[in-house]
Amino acid sequence: MFIVMVTPECAPAAKVGGLADVVHGLSKELGIRGHAVEIILPKYDCMRYDRISGLTKCYSDLWVPFYQQWVHCDVYFGWMDGLKCFFIEPHLQRNFFNRGVFYGHHDDGERFAFFCRAALEFMLKSNKHPDIIHCHDWQTGLVPVLLYEMYQQLGLRQPRVCFTLHNVGHQGISGEFLLREVGLNPASVMTHDRLLDDHRPGAINLMKGGIVYSNFVTTVSPRYGQEIRHTPLGMGLQRVLGVHHQKFGGVLNGLDYGVWNPEVDPHIAKRYTIASLGDKYANKDALRHRLWLRSGMKPLVSFVGRLDPQKGVDLILHAVPYCLDHGCQFVLLGSSLQGDINTAFWNLKARYNDHPDCHLEIGYNEELAHLIYAGSDLILVPSGYEPCGLTQIISLKYGTVPIVRNTGGLADTVFDADHAHKPYHERNGYVFNDYNWQGLESAIHRAIGLWNHYPGYFRELMANGMRCDYSWNYPGQNYLNIYNYIKAS
Ligand code: ADP
Repeated sequence: MFIVMVTPECAPAAKVGGLADVVHGLSKELGIRGHAVEIILPKYDCMRYDRISGLTKCYSDLWVPFYQQWVHCDVYFGWMDGLKCFFIEPHLQRNFFNRGVFYGHHDDGERFAFFCRAALEFMLKSNKHPDIIHCHDWQTGLVPVLLYEMYQQLGLRQPRVCFTLHNVGHQGISGEFLLREVGLNPASVMTHDRLLDDHRPGAINLMKGGIVYSNFVTTVSPRYGQEIRHTPLGMGLQRVLGVHHQKFGGVLNGLDYGVWNPEVDPHIAKRYTIASLGDKYANKDALRHRLWLRSGMKPLVSFVGRLDPQKGVDLILHAVPYCLDHGCQFVLLGSSLQGDINTAFWNLKARYNDHPDCHLEIGYNEELAHLIYAGSDLILVPSGYEPCGLTQIISLKYGTVPIVRNTGGLADTVFDADHAHKPYHERNGYVFNDYNWQGLESAIHRAIGLWNHYPGYFRELMANGMRCDYSWNYPGQNYLNIYNYIKAS
């Protein structure tokens, strides 16, 4: 099968969060199974160009219609960790993708609407006729709309579209003008059963458009699939997901164990397996050494992730002093697009600057993240909601015990050491229900109690996590089943 991923992110060069890891891991798995996969991305100036090899201009005559003009684009080809990637570079005064950051501009809607049109124009002009176009999140929601409304008639008759919702917290809300810019007729698509937002009068919703026009819609865990259909976590998409429930399902994300695996990880101080679990502590030493933390018999608790309200920032701010007061060390790696959140963490960092048991690293650092996963005893994921979450899945592989909230993909992957309805050998972490500091504290308390008083049982919990198989093996097959199903229908 020939599959084209149209995506705003792909690890390792263009990564903001888990979406990038998923596109990378799924594409690799499909390639291993013998399928042809190509990835189309914007050519951002802020990509890690050191992670792309053989980057060359491969198409310089792409003209994309956009708002009553033709925009000249170059398309570059490069290999990213063995994956074939095409990067679209528009020559436009507004410099859509040369902004120094991936997201966060007032015209994000236009930037990615343009990208959708350009990706389809590129497929048409370069004679690519994939069996499947797999789109990711609101940024690519217009791809199935444009395909159905325009590009099928122009000759792209073969592709069927799978659309994955990585996070419905961002839906791409915009105005009617955007439709005109990409050449769509507002009168035909701005209706309640198509792109019109269900709750904001007169606004269009790009994610809703993707849901309506795709042949199949997935989200990144079964629990999140239930939550967004039936609870306010759907953030206004519950109705449209209900209407289209027959083509909607949750597929738990996989993890690329070629990248995230303490047996082969080049970024950690000492590699280890379940059989040599003692070697994990060389990584704890290395992490402490790197971050100027003292050594000693203390559990090391970490947080790695975007500092977004979704991730439970208020609970994280609460957890740091709580852990320090209860005999733990704390390491945080994260960054935020929101000024007030950044300030709160910079203030916390200033407060603990000289503390020998605490280090807050505010920023993005892929290599340090690997060492934190390997060197920590416990990792905290106290999210308000979590579509899938990769941090806890990565931690499990590194024998770092996750403490998570009972929501979304966290609930599908972490099973409480004391309370899970699972045999003991399948329990792998700590789970709390209520989004408040009492819930958080009780879970941390139980986890550090086991670490302090029952190290043998704690090791069993670590090993249980390391034995879990969250590779791309099962989800890869699930996606292939979906592709085959929509191809045949
Ligand atoms: P989300 O997609 O909501 O950001 P996930 O848990 O699905 O969250 O994926 C997060 C991914 O991004 C993980 O691979 C994590 O290690 C990585 N990550 C997040 N923040 C940082 C950071 N500040 N530095 C390095 N890696 C980070």
